[in-house]
Amino acid sequence: MTPNAIPESFSGDGTTIEVRSRRRCPFCKSDPNKFTVGLEQYMNYLAGGLVQAAFPQLNPDAREELISGAHGQCFDKYMENSTDES
Ligand SMILES: [Zn+2]
Repeated sequence: MTPNAIPESFSGDGTTIEVRSRRRCPFCKSDPNKFTVGLEQYMNYLAGGLVQAAFPQLNPDAREELISGAHGQCFDKYMENSTDES
């Protein structure tokens, strides 16, 4: 199984890593943001850990972005539009 969150770059001291979803944002079609996580956390994630368990410091929007590539603000805008039907 290929993970959705893939490494972008390693930090100088090798304890953290920048990861990003390999998917593009389905709303604006641009690349998702990178997030810095612990290298050990990323290893746990690769070993089959869930994003919310592996990266507890990330907020729900960031976790969603790592999984689906959707920017938090794009998703919010989409939800706003789709529920604004009064
Ligand atoms: Zn977007």
